[in-house]
This record gives sequence, structure tokens and C-alpha cells, in this order.
Amino acid sequence: MNPTHDPRRDLPSVDALMRHPDVASLVGSLSRDSVTRLARRGLASVRDRAQATISDGALAEPLPRDRLLGEAVTATLAEAAAIANPGPRRVINASGVVLHTNLGRAPLSAHAAAAVAAVSAGYANLEFDLGTGERGARHAHLAGPVLDALEATHPGLDTSGLDALVVNNCAGAILLVLAELARGREVVVSRGHLVEIGGGFRVPDVMRQGGARLVEVGTTNRTRLEDYANAIGPDTAALLAVHPSNFRIIGFGASVAIADLASLGAERGVPVVEDVGSGCLLDTEMFNIGGALREPRPSESLAAGVSVVTFSGDKLLGGPQAGIIVGRRPIIERIRRHPLARALRLGSLGIVALAATLTHYRRGTAATEVPVWLMIGATEADLSFRASSWAASLRASGVACHVAPEVSAIGGGSMPGVSLPTTVVRIPAGAGSRAAALAARLRRGDAAVPPVVGRIADDDLLIDPRTVLPGEDDAVVAAVARASRATSS
Ligand SMILES: *Cc1c(COP(=O)(O)O)cnc(C)c1O
Repeated sequence: MNPTHDPRRDLPSVDALMRHPDVASLVGSLSRDSVTRLARRGLASVRDRAQATISDGALAEPLPRDRLLGEAVTATLAEAAAIANPGPRRVINASGVVLHTNLGRAPLSAHAAAAVAAVSAGYANLEFDLGTGERGARHAHLAGPVLDALEATHPGLDTSGLDALVVNNCAGAILLVLAELARGREVVVSRGHLVEIGGGFRVPDVMRQGGARLVEVGTTNRTRLEDYANAIGPDTAALLAVHPSNFRIIGFGASVAIADLASLGAERGVPVVEDVGSGCLLDTEMFNIGGALREPRPSESLAAGVSVVTFSGDKLLGGPQAGIIVGRRPIIERIRRHPLARALRLGSLGIVALAATLTHYRRGTAATEVPVWLMIGATEADLSFRASSWAASLRASGVACHVAPEVSAIGGGSMPGVSLPTTVVRIPAGAGSRAAALAARLRRGDAAVPPVVGRIADDDLLIDPRTVLPGEDDAVVAAVARASRATSS
């Protein structure tokens, strides 16, 4: 026993650490200066841990020098790995939640990803007119494709009097629209539409940030057309409807059809703004999803005569994060000139990704080319086939599991209550927290396999093929097999 021994005296020097073969081999992929910096940081973390141990009074025995060196090497390698893999990392979504907000919502199509890669590696005519050689408009790249995609997916829709503007996300889109149309004036909104979308995004807060005064009408469950009509006064700048995307009122409810609200607005000369949220361009009836539930489509609202609609690019549209504003041309022109339009503008990567995603709709191939729609439209036979073949491979490598019927969710605040029948691989993890340990191991991934996010139910781990992209099948099986071995030993 040597209570006065200070283990920090036994720490290796930076030079000794740099000479260790594992640390020395970092030089090459990292400059020598970078390795030195990481080695210092690795040493500091070992010193801090030793200091904490002394403060705890727990340490009596001097630590072997080779153990301190080993810890410093491990810490240095971890620092180097963090440089090689900064977040966000590619992960495999085996949760079955199609628009998983925490996993980046919609994955891009191969075509959109390739377009981003091609354009981002060089210069682009972002604000340059290649015809005249003069300055061009950034928004010009998307206005035409947005309107054409709406027309392509909604036979009979006339977009001739419309225009479009795209900003950073849908929350920004609403903020911008209200800031331009309603700053210092009144916006009439149903109490049933004052929703919180998630992540602390509340419609009333955004309206106030936009400088609008809220005039609430109706009740949480019932609002009638007269409620809006009676609230319109000389200071009314707009009537606002918000799609309550993430919940449904069951039972005694009444809301105003958007076409009726649009007629009222037209009659009284007040613009009607609708935030439809999920940006569902396709007619979901073609997917036969969970019975009669349908998602409102921006094209329907425009056909019904609303002045402005806003929706997200990365929900059911299946593209990058973006907020799309479509409406009557004079209104969009005003909005475009607002200073916030500059502050909220989309970057070139988002513009390219969105334009490429819209191409699928304009060609009429979105249902078979946009990943979100492929996942939603996956057949039960296909899902069951994939789950069964994964389970067979897993059992062949010694992992006890079986397939079971389950449901996947759309997520992202879209289509609440709609559940899609699926087949999952179910790994009974036994009593206690083994499912959590297995899920945690899977989430970490390693050099051979990417992180995989599954779902836990009744202390079993579920792996849902619906959200696993084509081409990720082998990686999922390999990852589950490795994680199972690691947690059962
Ligand atoms: C999701 C959603 C938003 C927010 O969209 P972001 O693109 O995430 O900013 C706003 N309104 C509605 C109705 C939504 O569903």
C-alpha cells in the first residue's frame, strides 16, 4: 500500500506515446502535428481519470506504467477515429419508422444523391444565367420544377397564375409568409390548428415571431365557417389553416373544408394561407394504406383556391430538408423580396437535391423511384421474404430469432394512426436488459458494419425490413450477428 503514490508521475511522455506503433501508424493519414495534438489530448484524458481516482481516494496501488501507456494509446486512437468519422454518420434504419425525424427523415433517391455529388464537387450556376452570362436568380432553379411536379401529380391543376419559392424548412416558410403578409396585423386561426409539431415548434409561437396578432376562433374540436367569417375585420391580414399532422380528433369534431375557407377569403378579399406540412404530392389512395386515412395534398389546396400553401421537402415528398411556398404570383413576389427570404434561403446542395427529387414526380416515376414511397408501398410479400431470409442467415450463424407480423409507422408527424403491416425479425433477448444491450451494441457499429437502429418491444429486439434500403440487407444481417455475439459472450 502506498497512499501517497501519484499515478500521474507514471504517465508516458508525449514522445513515448508517439513512438508506440499504433500511434506512429496514424502518421500518414494524419499529419505529424495532428497526431501530436491528439496524443496530448489522449494523455490529458488519462491524466484526468487518474486525478479523479485520487480525488475519490480509491487509489492505493501504483498503476503499472504499461497499463497507463495502453490507456493513452486507446484514448489517442479514439480521438483519431472521431476525426475520421465526424457526425452525422450513415446509419441503417431498421426501426420501421419511414420518416424518422431523428434519423434525418427522408433518404434521397439514388438520382438525387448523384446529382448532389456531381454538383458539389465543382462550381455551379447557382445565381448565374448561362444564356446571358449575367447574374441569375437562385430561386429560378426550383420555381418551375415545383409547379410542374404539382401539375404532373394532379391532373387538371392549373398553375398558370402561381409561383413558388423554397426556403430552408417549412417552419421558416410559415415564418416568412406571415412576416410578409401579416406583420403587425391579425391572422385568424382555429383553436384546433394551434398545434405543436414537435421539437418545440408551436404554431402560435411562430405566428408571433412573424409579427402577426393571433385571432383564435372556434374550439379545440369544433370550428365552423361562421367563426372565421365573424372574426374578419379591417385589420385581418390572412386566414390561416394548419394541418394537425401528428394527431387526429376522434369523435365530436368539426372543421372547415379548405375549399370553403378559400371561398370565404376570396369573398372578403383576405388571403388564405394553409400549412399542409407533409408535402404529399402523390394520391395516397394508390397505396391502399390503412383504410380511408388520407394526407392533404398541396395541389388540392391550390385547386381549392387557397392563396398560399407551405410544405416540407423532407417528409412525404421524399427530398432534402426544405420549406416550399406555392401561391398566387403577386403574393410570392412580395414574399421573395422580404429580407427574411434572404436569411432563410436554401443552399446549393439542397436546391440540387430538391430539383432532382422533383424530377421523379415530373416523370411520373415517383412511386417506384423515391425511397419514401418505395418503403410505404413495399408489399407484405416482399417484406416477409426479406425478413425470412435474414432470419435464416442469422440462425445459420447461431442467432436465435424468428419472424413475426408487426406494424411499421410513417412517422415525421405524417399520417398518425396509419400503420403499415410488415414482418420483422424478432430476437428474443430474454429477461432483463439484454435487448437494450443488444440494441446499444448495434447502434455503435464498428469498422466492419455501420450503426443499425432497431426497435425494442417487450424486451425483444425487432428489425423491420421496411426501412432498410435495398443494398443494406447484407450489412444488417452482419451487424446483428456481430452484435449478438458481442453481447452473448
Ligand atoms: C412538419 C411540419 C412543419 C415543420 O416542417 P419543417 O420542414 O420540419 O420545418 C410545419 N407544419 C406542419 C403542419 C408540419 O407537419
